[in-house]
Amino acid sequence: MIYKTTAKFNNPCFLKLLEKCDLCPRKCFVNRASGELGFCTASNDVKIAKASLHHWEEPCISGLLGSGTVFFSNCNLKCVFCQNHKISHDGYGKIVSISRLSEIFLEQQSRGALNINLVTPSHYVPQIIEALKLAKSCGLNIPILYNSNGYENVDTIKILRGFIDVYLPDLKYYNDKYAVKYSKAPNYFTCARQAITEMFSQVGETKFDDDGILQKGVIIRHLMLPGLLFDSKKILDFVHSTFNDSVYISLMNQYTPMHESFKYPEINRVINPNHYEALINYALKIGITKCFIQESGTSSKSYVPNFDLSNV
Ligand code: SF4
Repeated sequence: MIYKTTAKFNNPCFLKLLEKCDLCPRKCFVNRASGELGFCTASNDVKIAKASLHHWEEPCISGLLGSGTVFFSNCNLKCVFCQNHKISHDGYGKIVSISRLSEIFLEQQSRGALNINLVTPSHYVPQIIEALKLAKSCGLNIPILYNSNGYENVDTIKILRGFIDVYLPDLKYYNDKYAVKYSKAPNYFTCARQAITEMFSQVGETKFDDDGILQKGVIIRHLMLPGLLFDSKKILDFVHSTFNDSVYISLMNQYTPMHESFKYPEINRVINPNHYEALINYALKIGITKCFIQESGTSSKSYVPNFDLSNV
């Protein structure tokens, strides 16, 4: 099926957000509408590197048919170890119009995607909202997932109310020392905590359909880093004491040293499997029951998507 939608990105309210951009905690205050670039180096135009059916998310997201991932280019975090650095740091991708973005959403649905999975969307929120409005008016009816690095301005998350069904925020660091060192992101934990609290207030407890596919809720993802077991435990303490069993936590062991990891010898290696096991045991010990864990052998460059502009 070929979809054709028409729209101009002319919502004056949303355009204003890009004229003095503070969409994320960087608060660069650049005028993206006139070509100025901030930390994320995203312009006014949406850029995408790939749209695909993704099978390697949590089972309740990928199911058998796959999650309809849309990989946005550029990033407001740019971790030194980023596995997607080709698109996040280097900005690889193709500019698409709001109309085309809405068509991509509809095409993903037509392909059988179980959801629309917006990957690293923070710096394009106004444009995504416009595209979602258009796509929904043309029949988009699968859950919308906001798959974020967690470094969010809570006011930006507030404008997403009603557009997002499932939030998938990372919670990468508890101690800002590591957030600054590996992501140049001061106040990472505070920003992520506020954002996740707002996300939960919007979508509430997790809800699944009869096939076990997530329809509403929050899954907090934590990628364990080499040597930071104590920081990971702090994150589990926070999640459990704040949300109890109302959200899921996904503990990831897939860290693969990539990009600029070689400049940081302490993270230029895979994680110790004993540390991952210790983290799982800690989660159980403090009473976490809603938790996804990964099998061993997930640390591999072969899991990095091939960013080839497919379906863009
Ligand atoms: S979205 Fe980009 S330009 Fe806007 S505040 Fe964040 S990093 Fe800066």
